[in-house]
Amino acid sequence: MMTNNYDTIIIGGGPAGMMAAIASSFYGRKTLLLEKNKRLGKKLALTGGGRCNVTNNGTHNEIFSNIPHGAKFLYSTFSQFDNHDIMAFFKENGVKLKVEDHGRVFPVTDSAQTIISSLQAKMVALGVTILTDSEVTSTRKIDDDFIVKIANNTKFTGRKLIVTTGGKSYPSTGSTGYGYEIARHFKLNVTDLKAAESPLITDFPHKKLQGISLHEVTLQIGKQKITHDLLFTHFGLSGPAALRASSFIKADETIFLNFLPKISENELADKFEQLRDKSVKNVTKLFLQERLAEFLIASADLELEMKIKQIPLKKLANLINLMQAFPIKVTGTMSLAKSFVTAGGVDLSEITPKTLMSKSIENLYFAGEVLDINAHTGGFNITCALATGWVAGVN
Ligand SMILES: Cc1cc2nc3c(=O)[nH]c(=O)nc-3n(C[C@H](O)[C@H](O)[C@H](O)COP(=O)(O)OP(=O)(O)OC[C@H]3O[C@@H](n4cnc5c(N)ncnc54)[C@H](O)[C@@H]3O)c2cc1C
Repeated sequence: MMTNNYDTIIIGGGPAGMMAAIASSFYGRKTLLLEKNKRLGKKLALTGGGRCNVTNNGTHNEIFSNIPHGAKFLYSTFSQFDNHDIMAFFKENGVKLKVEDHGRVFPVTDSAQTIISSLQAKMVALGVTILTDSEVTSTRKIDDDFIVKIANNTKFTGRKLIVTTGGKSYPSTGSTGYGYEIARHFKLNVTDLKAAESPLITDFPHKKLQGISLHEVTLQIGKQKITHDLLFTHFGLSGPAALRASSFIKADETIFLNFLPKISENELADKFEQLRDKSVKNVTKLFLQERLAEFLIASADLELEMKIKQIPLKKLANLINLMQAFPIKVTGTMSLAKSFVTAGGVDLSEITPKTLMSKSIENLYFAGEVLDINAHTGGFNITCALATGWVAGVN
């Protein structure tokens, strides 16, 4: 018969929960991981476009500068387990990693399943009891023990409870905010929940550009400039440049896109002049993807087959300007459910940074996105989840 008493119970099988389970069982504790989905790491599987952006290989300063909220709190966590420990962990467990632009780290297989399987295999090797399809419906503390009940009414007892239920964005992946209820049950403060890393909704005829993915575009809002990848979608803009902009953009603000930030306006004008016998379509296509090139030529009110030398100088200057300062009005940002990250969560002043234990409830821990920490996409949230998971599991 299954005994239902554990040293550590972990609620939520995302990156934070899986790493917490590994650390807890590594230190010899009898560990139970409860996940409500049929499989582990459903949200992790979506990151990096399905390739799993497992961490970032930047310095501590670079990592902290990509964590708009909660960086200071994490100093202690990263002094115990950081992005380099994450990379070493996966290498030791047979996962080859590669570093792409902006320090983004992926498995060489380009498959999120590689990362999830390796975390799962490590848990199995260490003897973690993993119960999927097990939604926690109630959590109480009686004397020194936590009593955790799942949907089929099975009860488990644990000396330590680690809550790694994630935030509230993309609820279809399982993160519906149950961890905040646990925090409130134990009278811990939960700060206001808001969308972070949100795609931008624009008033732009996006259908024509839908699906175009651009590398290293500069997005300018007022004086702020963000140079990163960008994606045109059916509602507007997504990709790292748009997601980062969402934290400070205001509704009805106009952004300007420079599709060619590495070339100066004069250099671009010279190139057009040198190729004056060619068609505007062929010259513009040298710099931009065909669909975008054709769209900008039409926006500049030019015919595709016109020779550069036939175009009045003012109109040519306008085309070049559109290539380097294309205006788009942003009408809003996506809701929390459709944003990549949740800002807000369990108040950091309730938690001891060194151990991630609640200051008021002995042996209750929180790790991952359930905490009031949010980072940019690019592997920084996952780094926070894996590192805080490890620290909560160890302590
Ligand atoms: C589309 C998308 C792309 C992203 N891309 C990136 C990226 O490139 N880089 C980056 O750093 N971050 C990215 N993120 C954010 C990142 O995925 C999350 O920050 C990270 O997964 C949080 O980890 P977590 O373990 O705290 O929570 P989650 O991964 O959300 O895991 C929480 C788990 O808890 C389970 N759970 C919840 N309630 C219960 C319950 N009552 N009982 C049992 N189980 C429960 C859930 O089912 C879930 O599996 C992306 C997010 C999305 C949605």
